[in-house]
Amino acid sequence: MTFLESIYLWNILKGMGITISHLFKKKATINYPEQKRSFSKVFRGLHVLNRDAEGRENCTACGLCAVACPAEAITMEAAERLPGEEHLYREEKYAARYEINMLRCIFCGLCEEACPKDAIYLSQTFAPPNYGRKGFIYKKEDLLIPHPVNEPEAYKKALGEKA
Ligand code: SF4
Ligand code: SF4
Repeated sequence: MTFLESIYLWNILKGMGITISHLFKKKATINYPEQKRSFSKVFRGLHVLNRDAEGRENCTACGLCAVACPAEAITMEAAERLPGEEHLYREEKYAARYEINMLRCIFCGLCEEACPKDAIYLSQTFAPPNYGRKGFIYKKEDLLIPHPVNEPEAYKKALGEKA
């Protein structure tokens, strides 16, 4: 061991050199949430319940997504469409209640794959943080995409990569 090594001066200088060299390198971190990273094309985030071009809900409450879900995160209740509700629901049956428990969900995308009606897809949005468990039970109102005719801008934004 040399004299410099025995008083740790060399190691301290070496460590400081490494620290200073990082000041001039590209930062690995970003100022989230002001800045956001672009996601990979295969990123799967928060679910969206889709509507057709006229704004009618696509979901027919067939339950295939719930059956396909390995985490048993989806629950729903079906209802019959009444005369005069054709502008609200595309099919004769619709989901009167539709819930996803995001604490169970593993964002595998199997619900999207199982759906025969293009009624559900995983968007490129995070589920926001929450302090309570109840805040992670997403109801139909939370999941439904904005109306394409009444709120075209919000609809286009929600469609994201699917547009
Ligand atoms: S993404 Fe996977 S785990 Fe989450 S609700 Fe869909 S099927 Fe279930
Ligand atoms: S989201 Fe699709 S698979 Fe799930 S109940 Fe609705 S139509 Fe069926």
